[in-house]
Amino acid sequence: VTTIGILGGGQLGRMLSVAASRLGLRCHVFEPGAAPAADVAHALTTAPYEDEAALRAFAQSVDVITYEFENVPTSSLDLLESMRPIRPNRRALAISQDRLAEKTFLNEIGLATAPFADVPAEADLGGAIDRIGRPSILKTRRLGYDGKGQIRIGDGPAEWTGAPSVLEGFVDFSAEISVIVARGADGQVAAYDPGLNVHRDGILHRTTVPCGLPGRVTTDAVLIAAKIAAALDYVGVMGVELFVTPGGLIVNEIAPRVHNSGHWTQAGCAVDQFEQHIRAVAGLPLGDGRRYADVTMENLIGEDLDRLPDLLASPNAQIHLYGKGEARAGRKMGHVNRITA
Ligand code: ATP
Ligand code: MG
Ligand code: MG
Repeated sequence: VTTIGILGGGQLGRMLSVAASRLGLRCHVFEPGAAPAADVAHALTTAPYEDEAALRAFAQSVDVITYEFENVPTSSLDLLESMRPIRPNRRALAISQDRLAEKTFLNEIGLATAPFADVPAEADLGGAIDRIGRPSILKTRRLGYDGKGQIRIGDGPAEWTGAPSVLEGFVDFSAEISVIVARGADGQVAAYDPGLNVHRDGILHRTTVPCGLPGRVTTDAVLIAAKIAAALDYVGVMGVELFVTPGGLIVNEIAPRVHNSGHWTQAGCAVDQFEQHIRAVAGLPLGDGRRYADVTMENLIGEDLDRLPDLLASPNAQIHLYGKGEARAGRKMGHVNRITA
């Protein structure tokens, strides 16, 4: 493999491109919108996913296709897959695109999720609430991220999301953690230490490693992530979000790609999640998943960027900016990894 095709030109595609370059590989990013973060790729195509000629030319120019964004239309993926291998595979993508399929799959392989009910239309919501109870959370099956497309259902009248949804029982968790796991083409698995995640306004705010939970919990979390990767015959890096409860770990969702809560690996590990993903999809041996430092990762969102002078002046801060230009509210502009020990 010498050229990696990446679907999606956001910050994850940017950091994957940098990692590929460092390994002497080339990368070609395909991005349907504006791609301010993709200026580091060797080649960039900006065209809609419906543009078959552009998709063909993209596929022809690469050896393997991966993605930083999971909502690529099925018909585009069919075309791409007829030309080049897609890693992680289509099943992993299909399952993580759809919360109903995702939770059903997780339960089928014996993992706990929040109790859930299929809510295809607004008329089904009352029955679903009767079964799942209150409080609960209504989530669109597809396309939600950063807490978008979600409605909390408390004691009052329930609103509708406007699209086919799942209703999830509210999990009274003590903490949220995530595991970044990698699986190679040969089935080799490498997991990073679970991170403790804190959200603000539905967006990841901070990840801390070590997460401070007992070894039996972190070991369990890693085993769960490895089980999911093996069950999907996964190749690449995957993020698994988990709720910690007195009754054990509950899987919230999986992301078939590098994950925001894995950015700490850039400062804590010899081989970070981006290089690990490139190694996996390029068919190279996986790197060492061991953590060599304690790290706190904080997202720089919107006007957080005003703090840049202070951050630049602080000795333990590793700063990553995504080159996106305008700092709109809620927009991920960068992150900072602080080595704390
Ligand atoms: P992401 O940006 O991580 O993809 P998302 O929009 O897909 O987020 P979720 O991860 O499903 O959304 O939910 C966002 C946050 O809302 C979770 O991290 C958690 O804090 C809270 N949450 C989600 N589902 C539940 C639940 N069933 N019970 C309690 N809290 C929940
Ligand atoms: Mg999500
Ligand atoms: Mg999430």
